[in-house]
Amino acid sequence: MNLQNSLNFSGGPGALPESVLLQLSEELIQVPGLGISILGISHRSEWFAEVISELEDNIRALLGLNEKYHVLLLQGGATQQFSMVPMTLLRGKSTAAEYIQTGYWSGKAIPEAKLEGPIRVIWNGRAAGFNRLPTDDELCFSPDAPYIHYISNETVEGLQFQRVLGRDDVPRVCDMSSDFLSKPGDFERFSLIYAHAQKNIGPSGITVVVVRDELIEQPHAELPSFLDYKTQAKAHSNFNTPPVFAIYAVLLVTRWLIKDIGGLTQMDRINRRKAELLYGLIDDSDGFYQGRAETADRSLMNVVFNLPSLELEKRFIQESQAAGFSGLAGHRAIGGLRASIYNAVTIEAVEELVNFMDAFWRKSVR
Ligand code: PLP
Repeated sequence: MNLQNSLNFSGGPGALPESVLLQLSEELIQVPGLGISILGISHRSEWFAEVISELEDNIRALLGLNEKYHVLLLQGGATQQFSMVPMTLLRGKSTAAEYIQTGYWSGKAIPEAKLEGPIRVIWNGRAAGFNRLPTDDELCFSPDAPYIHYISNETVEGLQFQRVLGRDDVPRVCDMSSDFLSKPGDFERFSLIYAHAQKNIGPSGITVVVVRDELIEQPHAELPSFLDYKTQAKAHSNFNTPPVFAIYAVLLVTRWLIKDIGGLTQMDRINRRKAELLYGLIDDSDGFYQGRAETADRSLMNVVFNLPSLELEKRFIQESQAAGFSGLAGHRAIGGLRASIYNAVTIEAVEELVNFMDAFWRKSVR
């Protein structure tokens, strides 16, 4: 693999697996059997209908979902879902939807929901500087809520839930943008999951939504057709011109997950090893690397940490870039450093980063 692609630890668009990048680069010129570029293939072609159908099946298979779930490939990013969810499930309701504020991105979802109906924030981690997640004792869910909403992995602060929240008699809605398809789980306990592609499963431009049939079949407010899950489900995500290239790239990543990696249990094993390597070094560095999140709530996807001074953090970024690494600066909202170790980042790349960090630490404290 191109060395700099393999050493990309960006928290935004993540790297894609090398085999997928190579296939895409060939198919930019010519898709075998069709003779033309992927960029010139009609979204109304039979070929593309098969792409969508296989991708829907692959996502359902990877998540272990039954046929009652629609798989939608939408535009507008996860941000659009901050609005589309409450437009569908909250408009016209008198009881409050329940939101959990665990960091930067859940904080963005809340004001959008408020535009559509009543909401209740049942836990807010702001006072603790968003460095931990709530315990079960701190969460009290109401049986009357139209739905609960939370984010499984806070990308900016590096906090990840390792359990499912809420009650089984209230629809669960979860933003899984930054840990989607990174580990197995009991996904049928969710009524709606959304995740943009650009972290674990492809380039930016599409957001995967899986939604249970009864949620979109129930009567709800009149919505613009484009923003109505039902329209999108009926059209198999081909209501208007979809981003064909991005959708095809996600199909290739799901094939890679199924065939090359061997499924989500195996992906999880690899992801845990990567996180273990990085947190291991952080914990053994005598306080030089300071992990931001409390140990129990640390993310396996976004390793967020600080150094003893801003000066050292600046030097870390400069020297890491000179050594071929990229994407290690923390999110602009909180600064510091962040190593995002999404699915396509290899164990070997993490080992290289750990070696660099180890050398940087020893050199800086000498
Ligand atoms: N939710 C989470 C967890 C994210 O990490 C992000 C962006 O990184 C968003 C939502 C916003 O996504 P988008 O830029 O696709 O709208």
